[in-house]
Amino acid sequence: MAKGLGSNLGRNFKLASVKRPITPRAKGLYPGAETGAGEYGSVQFPTIVEQYNRESDYKRWKLGQEYYFGKGRTWGDRQFNILARFLNANPSSTTDEIESTGSREVVTLFPSSTSPENAWYVATRVRGSFLFPQPIQASALTYNQSDPDPSNHTITYNVTGIYNAQQLGIYTVCIGDQFEDSAIGPSFPDDLVRRDTDSVAFTLIAVSVSSMTMTFDLSKPHRRVNRNGHIYWKKEKYDPDDATIPDLKWKDDGTKHLASSFSFFCCCPDCLGGAVANLDKPERKATLETFPLPNANRSVNSAWEREGVGYYRQWRSLPNRKDQRRECKHIHAQRWACGVPWLEPDDYPTASERDVLEFMASAEKALDPREYLEYFANRRLSFDRFVLTIAESAGLTLFPGGDVRDNIRPSNAPMLWNDRDEPLASWCRNNDWWLERGTQKLQCFNATTQQFQATVPKSGVTYPILEFLPDDVPTTPKIVP
Ligand SMILES: [Zn+2]
Repeated sequence: MAKGLGSNLGRNFKLASVKRPITPRAKGLYPGAETGAGEYGSVQFPTIVEQYNRESDYKRWKLGQEYYFGKGRTWGDRQFNILARFLNANPSSTTDEIESTGSREVVTLFPSSTSPENAWYVATRVRGSFLFPQPIQASALTYNQSDPDPSNHTITYNVTGIYNAQQLGIYTVCIGDQFEDSAIGPSFPDDLVRRDTDSVAFTLIAVSVSSMTMTFDLSKPHRRVNRNGHIYWKKEKYDPDDATIPDLKWKDDGTKHLASSFSFFCCCPDCLGGAVANLDKPERKATLETFPLPNANRSVNSAWEREGVGYYRQWRSLPNRKDQRRECKHIHAQRWACGVPWLEPDDYPTASERDVLEFMASAEKALDPREYLEYFANRRLSFDRFVLTIAESAGLTLFPGGDVRDNIRPSNAPMLWNDRDEPLASWCRNNDWWLERGTQKLQCFNATTQQFQATVPKSGVTYPILEFLPDDVPTTPKIVP
């Protein structure tokens, strides 16, 4: 019989020890030999509302909207503009920019009473962070639509003559991200078309340096739609055999350039599906958050996770594709700021449910003023969590499957190491980052020299891996809605 199912019919019947006094317990039914673990009445099931709260995208969407509109944007009082640089030429845009830029990131802090440092970070890789230097030409695109299952249909973009192999290789940090034909030229940010409802986004699923191609999933198009003068982000249907469904494609007449779409990542547990240890102040309280333990309910347990015990625990795997991830309320708020809020979530509730949820949303948005004060007073933010957020947003793998210390790396993307001691060169790949655990020492791995280094050289100038930029410099990441 399967474990935990059905009644035990009185087997395993055991008398309680007479030496142990009966201690008072809270009211309720407790599973035991007498009641039978798993019998009806001995297990607490979440109520429908609780389950809904746990699962609902609508609630996250609604809370994100409240964050953005309801509190006068106090959540966004701290934004950092960051360039995350990679070794070898960055494939973005014009020559000048190849020399000086990297992945363009804007990080927003959200005050939170449940975060150990009173804030979560949302990293936004801004639209056009990766921008093709040449326009899309029909001759470079191949549509692969012969598979009987439309979900396997793809577009192959041959980038010969646009990029060299090293530049194309950098695009492995974009696998899982969406790309859209929403730029009229190669210059960031001026050539990005604002509120562009004519473009469509497809997810990058593969990069091949040997054939010089990038492959995109044709079957899950997303785009901006206009509803009553407001722009929303919407997932569209795909079926080449259904004439009622529009055939969405990139404009390939030489008028548009391909640009990376907005992509988001938040380090809160709802988005990360895990928690990182609070290494900055371990003495304060040794809670689970400080020294997280592996989650008993999770069967996926790679070597990387086992070795990370005490540093983080994870209870849900992060899908590599951004369009398959759950977005937390912080990301939903950031979507409003970027002009791409979802039109509506899939699980949009009925009117009566909505009344309850809207009441709850207004209750949740009212942050205790003490929480703000604590957030400002203790603004000593964990660099571990900060770098984790940026690294994921810049395209590094946080939770590699396989045993990376046995040189088994399932994905081609570079990864973030958090070891106390320097990882062996034989484990590492070009552009891996190593943040020495509990410190602010961030280094990147150079495959040519087989060493970690703290800076990224470009044309004789050395730049930091992460550069924090003020709002008014030309290279600063900008959000163009
Ligand atoms: Zn979040």
